[in-house]
Amino acid sequence: QVKTRNKFEGLWRLSKLGVPVHRDPGKDFLGVSEGLLEAIAKVLEFPVASMLPAEAFSVIRKSFDARKMLKEPKFVYVVDMDVEKLLSLEPRTWDFISQMEPKVGLIEHLSEEKVTGDLINIIRDCTRISEDTISGDGGNKDNFVAKGSLIASSRKPKIAVVGSGPSGLFACLVLAEFGADVTLIERGQPVEQRGRDIGALVVRKVLEMESNFCFGEGGAGTWSDGKLVTRIGRNSDTVLAVMKTLVHFGAPKGILVNGKPHLGTDKLIPLLRNFRQHLQDLGVTIEFGKRVDDLLIEDGQVVGVKVSDSKDQSQSNSQKWGFDSVVLAVGHSARDVYQMLLSHNVALVPKDFAIGLRIEHPQEVINNIQYSRLASEVRSGRGKVPVADYKLVKYVGRENGDVSAGATRSCYSFCMCPGGQVVLTSTNPSEICINGMSFSRRASKWANAALVVTVSTKDFESLNLHGQLAGVEFQREFERRAAILGGGNFVVPVQTVTDFMDGKLSVTSIPPSSYRLGVKAANLHELFPIHITEALQQSISMFNEELPGIISKEGLLHGVETRTSSPIQIPRNTDTYESTSLKGLYPIGEGAGYAGGIVSAAVDGMCAGFAVSNAFDLCHDSI
Ligand code: FAD
Repeated sequence: QVKTRNKFEGLWRLSKLGVPVHRDPGKDFLGVSEGLLEAIAKVLEFPVASMLPAEAFSVIRKSFDARKMLKEPKFVYVVDMDVEKLLSLEPRTWDFISQMEPKVGLIEHLSEEKVTGDLINIIRDCTRISEDTISGDGGNKDNFVAKGSLIASSRKPKIAVVGSGPSGLFACLVLAEFGADVTLIERGQPVEQRGRDIGALVVRKVLEMESNFCFGEGGAGTWSDGKLVTRIGRNSDTVLAVMKTLVHFGAPKGILVNGKPHLGTDKLIPLLRNFRQHLQDLGVTIEFGKRVDDLLIEDGQVVGVKVSDSKDQSQSNSQKWGFDSVVLAVGHSARDVYQMLLSHNVALVPKDFAIGLRIEHPQEVINNIQYSRLASEVRSGRGKVPVADYKLVKYVGRENGDVSAGATRSCYSFCMCPGGQVVLTSTNPSEICINGMSFSRRASKWANAALVVTVSTKDFESLNLHGQLAGVEFQREFERRAAILGGGNFVVPVQTVTDFMDGKLSVTSIPPSSYRLGVKAANLHELFPIHITEALQQSISMFNEELPGIISKEGLLHGVETRTSSPIQIPRNTDTYESTSLKGLYPIGEGAGYAGGIVSAAVDGMCAGFAVSNAFDLCHDSI
């Protein structure tokens, strides 16, 4: 009985609705088209698609599927159907709806959506409920006081958040919304100045060591592709809360629907300005251009930080700032911070990560490989179908000759930037490391991606590197070798894919690169230890079976991609997020080894924000 009743109320989710490209308005259209109504009618086994009212359906997800085994490429939708609306707008659908049965993965009845809004609304709703419960006032919204209402009688806890990357920003937001007295300390510059510093790097080759592609407002992901895909569960409440918060600060709503959401640098910059303004409105003190050089510790508890002007490398004018707790969200390029933590005997555990090269092809080559006839529909990001990308994973191991490290290695493409460019992510002029970025339209004529293999302590030991910071030294070793191979002045060493596979160098045939600071032909096959080079060669050869044509003279490998994820984890308590070895220290985000990418870092920061708020009894209600 209950089942029958449910059919006529609430939402039903319809999945795997395929719409051929010629029946779809294109990648930027997120509404309900005629083509989609046809696909819906097919799943519902409803005979006349044109009778279905578009208003009864909302698009939850739209992806593009151009896999080779398909007869033709198509857009694939997930759609929610509001049954009451459908029946009221078109009563003639009654007969079909009354016979509708759930089909796993195709037609499912939805229980209530748990996340109802962005993080700010979630916290404010929760705070309001707690406040009403305490005051006995049954829900008068006007009574809500955004900040500090729950701790009016006592001193607000003073919290330092170090680092304004996604993890730091989200931790800061949660803490400030709960009424803590938060100071955000960032060694880099706000996005306006950071943009000028990055411009000086790209145009005049001037590297500001504290304001660059890694350091500054928004963290490492600001001048990036802004991919918002994550491996931690796209539909989880925490990810949805982050995505909705990004929309609150100006991200296009499409990121909530797009199967592979991305923002691009041009969209990230205004978003970060809005984020900053909101934090300032909440009373957060933001200190740009200030670097935390040390922790102040008393009786095994963090009581503050030592800060200096980040232009002052000598630390001669450093100041001591007192805090109740310190949230450390410094990313994985702050190698000085790892060293500082080690000096205080904070537990640091080396962890596996991946290194390799960045591969670049003309975007047209990738479009042709992936889409063949449909490639003409891309039109530099303005066309009907998305600019083509790829994702590759293979395993190579002992049987493939990798005996020196004795383990199976995963080889994979990473941080693919269709329509993007290769950029310099070094924080020191004697080291070269690179990554990729793009603008929202992904209109450049290049497609680049990291091709990396996993490395572990066995690899570090093979270079005689030991101890907690062995992974950092391992990264640094190849960054220095790359700088030497490039010949200095931020020139990146490159080799065609065919030459790399053949282990030779044909200097005369280097194709152009999107990297703007200069490239130089080099023996990249001699850069890494032989087992890493061989793993890369074997995986490229397997990738070529999936993407025939990526081994070509037009493909250019750039050295070196080392900072794929943190080489270190800072152990922390699973529930409280507090360091297991130092009270009052909350290590979060990618640098602490708990995230890999913008969204997972933001989620970690958000959860840490709740944990720290809990520790100070700021959130009285569970969320
Ligand atoms: P970070 O973003 O690294 O932020 C750390 C911040 O701490 C920095 O701003 C730094 O200046 C500051 N800091 C460090 N030390 C100190 C100190 N001592 N005192 C004060 N401040 C300090 N991920 C994706 O998901 N999608 C992408 O498309 C993508 N593209 C990328 C492109 C590039 C060029 C790069 C470099 C990275 C990209 N990433 C991407 C990775 C992503 O940026 C990171 O995973 C993410 O930013 C990690 O967030 P975080 O908050 O942990 O650290």
